[in-house]
Amino acid sequence: MGSMRTPFVLLPILVTSLLGAEGPIVHQPGEASASVSPELALARLQEGNAAFLAGHLDISHMTAARRVEVATGQHPFAAILSCADSRVPPEFLFDQGLGDLFPVRVAGAVAEPGAMGSLEYAVGHLGVRLVVVMGHTSCGAVKAAMDTPRPAKLTPTQANLESLLSLIRPALPNAALGGDPWTEAVRASVEQTRIDLSHHSPVLEELARSGKIWIVGAVYNLASGKVTFGSTPVLAWVPEPIVPRAKPKAAPVVHAKVETSAAKPKPHHTEE
Ligand SMILES: [Zn+2]
Repeated sequence: MGSMRTPFVLLPILVTSLLGAEGPIVHQPGEASASVSPELALARLQEGNAAFLAGHLDISHMTAARRVEVATGQHPFAAILSCADSRVPPEFLFDQGLGDLFPVRVAGAVAEPGAMGSLEYAVGHLGVRLVVVMGHTSCGAVKAAMDTPRPAKLTPTQANLESLLSLIRPALPNAALGGDPWTEAVRASVEQTRIDLSHHSPVLEELARSGKIWIVGAVYNLASGKVTFGSTPVLAWVPEPIVPRAKPKAAPVVHAKVETSAAKPKPHHTEE
């Protein structure tokens, strides 16, 4: 699909227009997670990444006082599903401190059950309204998925890692052509994770479809330090990638007629 680039268009104008429209850009003490809109949460992350890039880090949320302040409760304003890579710590990249973010980290930033359950907790119980799926350049998990086919027979030593790689491989054919293949595969993988979250987490899907939360894709560039966010969730709840494109086209079956109702592909996300 040639449109895999579109989710990663920058949205400086839109985000800029939102700054100040809904309250302070800085996370306030005791502020309820649910009171921070997805727009504002996204603006905060962009501001934080800009500070990280500029080397102007705010350590006010890394102090002993902050530690005591958040000891009795947490009110993170964004959940970040990102790779476990040692070079991609969300709090640093977004200039945040204790209690600000709800990071969920797994190699390849894939939508495996533990990650989805954690995100469901963040949005369902903590009231977080922005979920960011963040891949990064030179992701080893993505490279492993590119370089190794699924083993015909899994050995116990392969099983756990393979469970992650098998979630990345379906994305690879969707990588855009023309750019760096590895980076494009990372982008496609981020998009795949967003699709998987909606397909396999009814909690996230429902909240996203109703507009209560956003699920935004992003890619962190290891060398430059910049996080590039996707744009589609800002416009709508991405109908295009949600279509179950990986499924074998509703089989032009031999004995048609049999169970038309059950077999038909879900009229999933036909809304705007
Ligand atoms: Zn990685």
